[in-house]
Amino acid sequence: MRQPLFIQPVLQEKMWGGTKLRDIYGYNIPSEHTGECWAISAHPDGVGTIVNGAYTGVGLDELYKTQPELFGNPSSPVFPLLTKIIDAADALSVQVHPDDVYGMEHEGELGKTECWYIIDADEGAEIIYGHNALSQEEFAEKVQAGAWNELLRYVPVKRGDFFFVPSGTIHAIGAGITILETQQSSNTTYRVYDFDRVEKNGQTRELHIQKSLDVTTFPHVDAKNNFVIGDTVTTFIESEYFNVYKWNVTETFTYKQTAPYTLVSVLEGDGVLEVAGESYAIMKGMHFILPNGIADVTVNGNFEMLVSTPGPKSL
Ligand code: ZN
Repeated sequence: MRQPLFIQPVLQEKMWGGTKLRDIYGYNIPSEHTGECWAISAHPDGVGTIVNGAYTGVGLDELYKTQPELFGNPSSPVFPLLTKIIDAADALSVQVHPDDVYGMEHEGELGKTECWYIIDADEGAEIIYGHNALSQEEFAEKVQAGAWNELLRYVPVKRGDFFFVPSGTIHAIGAGITILETQQSSNTTYRVYDFDRVEKNGQTRELHIQKSLDVTTFPHVDAKNNFVIGDTVTTFIESEYFNVYKWNVTETFTYKQTAPYTLVSVLEGDGVLEVAGESYAIMKGMHFILPNGIADVTVNGNFEMLVSTPGPKSL
């Protein structure tokens, strides 16, 4: 009988990070500036480990290679998705990511289309989403002049919002925002602006202006949001790389798995997951994969969960 695969996340120090990943989710954080919990990851910069059942201690990257049937015998050579919880105590850099073609050519890895579920946001918190330049030339001029308020688009955010951020979209997560991010498994970021900050070693972080100009979409196009809000399941996006849902479970919910596999992050609540007659205690801060071959599961309790499955280009 197939079991859910519970994953031990990887915590990452970032200059803009804080302590919420410990204070709210109970993770063992490496520093008072911890920015990212790589919740479900097989990326070489932070590989999650299976912590239950027959595969205890095995990295998700290795499991994906050695047990492809757990993932529906995919053709993607690498586990295609990466989910994170991000604690932006301070703002992240203004950045953009390449698409797969540019990413493979210049960095040897996938491009990065990502999306954000806003878990929480301070009053007045905002993100940067898109830009106002009509051409590459205008963008370059405004960067050169440091005309950030003219160039960048600021969007206020609140708990429960969702943003799709395709590759080529200029973006930044602002201060005071906690996010569940679902993205392609890539760690390539081109920084346009870093607020002239210095790291604790006194150095500024590298900027990548030319590569940013290469990959940014001109003019900016707002991604279409067409949420489908149901009693229990909200569909945020179904796209070429990933599909993302929120489950608001009250008392009990049965999920029939039609995707090759499903990634689940428990954001609130605690209770029991039933799979093939076995019960697993689950609680806030846990992350697991329902592998291929699990036809249905039942969740008992009151939960908020963020759930994703691979899209057609990630299979
Ligand atoms: Zn990004």
